[in-house]
Formats: sequence, structure tokens, C-alpha cells
Amino acid sequence: MSIALISDPSCELHDAGYEHPESPERVKVIQQALKDFPFTTHKEFYTAPLATIEDVKRAHDHRFVDWLISIAPKTGVIMVDADTRMNSHTLSAAMHAAGAVILAVDLVLKNEVQAAFCNVRPPGHHAEYDKAMGFCFFNNIAIGALYALEVYHLQRIAIIDFDVHHGNGTQNIFQRDKRVMYCSSFQHPFYPGYDEELDNSHILGVPLKAGTDGAQFREAVEKKWFAKLLEFKPDLIFFSAGFDAHEQDPLADLRLTKDDYVWLTSKIADIAKICCQGKMISVLEGGYNLTVLADCVPAHVQAMIINE
Ligand SMILES: [Zn+2]
Repeated sequence: MSIALISDPSCELHDAGYEHPESPERVKVIQQALKDFPFTTHKEFYTAPLATIEDVKRAHDHRFVDWLISIAPKTGVIMVDADTRMNSHTLSAAMHAAGAVILAVDLVLKNEVQAAFCNVRPPGHHAEYDKAMGFCFFNNIAIGALYALEVYHLQRIAIIDFDVHHGNGTQNIFQRDKRVMYCSSFQHPFYPGYDEELDNSHILGVPLKAGTDGAQFREAVEKKWFAKLLEFKPDLIFFSAGFDAHEQDPLADLRLTKDDYVWLTSKIADIAKICCQGKMISVLEGGYNLTVLADCVPAHVQAMIINE
């Protein structure tokens, strides 16, 4: 079976301003790297559709969605918070980013592809039920997960978030929704903060100290996640794929390498093979070193491919 690689030209037009680390170059270099990489299965490139307002409102407060649409500027740049800014293309990019995940769910659940990667921005995992923050407007992965649960009537979904920042938005949306097991590893204490008290049977945070290396990371996530995931038996697995825990990322202080991303992805692919015929959808979150992105993203996507 093939893999789907989904992006949209609008994702290169959203621009938060001069020298913002969450830059249009990120999706450009990834797109080129995906084109060049010799995957061991057929790769199919797709352009993302727009998500519908209904899709977005499954994950977000309807007043918040209407408000964000109403403030989107026709020209110039406006600030939603200090580091979350909209230009005239941001709303379109955000709706296509969410739409990419909707398309990925359709392709994977209709068995047209085994797995999918969404090369999109703005990212999503900091966007809460009623709040845009941390470079994020709509929570792409939550929108995709709720679409799969409610339109395809899946019972259980797992989200593996290996971005170096805590996915507060995804946790906020699924805090009381036991259909979703949310597994997040992140540097602690780090943006935007994490409350261990809020962890429960389906919210499995792995806080890591600055300087944590690959061996320590592997031990921590294996211990906290793998048995629980096998027991949970997800019908579909998502990755919130941020590459800012890499040792060369400028925004954080963990010491992961490409091998660690490949290791985690392969371990999760093994679980996906047992639980859900290898159905996986990965969505870009952070990662701010362009060379690291070009190197690690194709390796992560390759590791999702299940060769029978
Ligand atoms: Zn991040």
C-alpha cells in the first residue's frame, strides 16, 4: 500500500513576520525532501482541501472559531498573542492545514493508503478549545481525530506527540474524552506549562529535563506509553510530529537525533500493526532547524511504512 503526502501552497503564504522561527521555509524544505527521498513504497502527493467550519467546530468553541474568522486581516499582520500572528493568508493556511488532516483520515480509513503525513503550518497542538496560542490557531490533530471518531465512528484513537513543547491544546480538548489516549513527551518546565495533576488514565505526559538524551527519552516513553497503548487498542494512531527536541534545534535543550525519531516511529508502527493494520497519520507541529527537518521528516515517514 502507498503513503499519502499532503500539503498546500497556502501553508507557504502564512507568515508571522520577519525572522519568526515558524517560517514558510519549513514546509518548503520538507516538501523538497519528501520529493527526493526514496521511500520503500509508492508515495502519492495530495493538495489539501479546506476544512469545513463544521469540521473545525468539532474541536473548538463555535464563538472562538467565528471570532478568529472575523479578525483575520485582509492586509498586514495582527497579533493574537505575542508570538501568534496572522497575515492575510493565515486563515486560509489554517483551514487547509486542518483540511489536510481530514483528507488523511479519509484516505487511511478508506484503505486507499496505509499512512499519511501532513506537511502543514500553522501547527496546531497549542490551540485549546477556545484559545489560539504558541504559533497555533486551530488544533489540526484534534480536528482530524474528532472527524474520525464522529464521522467514521471509530471507538479509540491514540495521539503520540513528540514535539519538545507540551501539547496543552490537545490535552485541553481531550482531557475528559476517554476515546482518545494522548501521549505527550516534552521538555519540562517548558512552554506553556504542564500540570502533572491533570494526567489520568488516558492522558500520559512524559516531562523530560533539559539535556535529556536519546537513551533517557526511549526509556521514559517506553515505560509510560507502550503497554498502555497495546491495552487501549487504538483504531487509528496520530503523531503530532514536532522535531524541536532534536539536539540541533534552536528553541529547546533536549538531545534527540534522527535515530530516536526513527526508533519511536518504528515502535509505534509495530503497535499500529497489531492494533489497527498500520493505520497512522502524522501531522507536522514544531521543529525550527531546516536541515534537521529535511533529514528527519522523511526518515520518520519511512518508519511509518509497514512492509508486508
Ligand atoms: Zn514545539
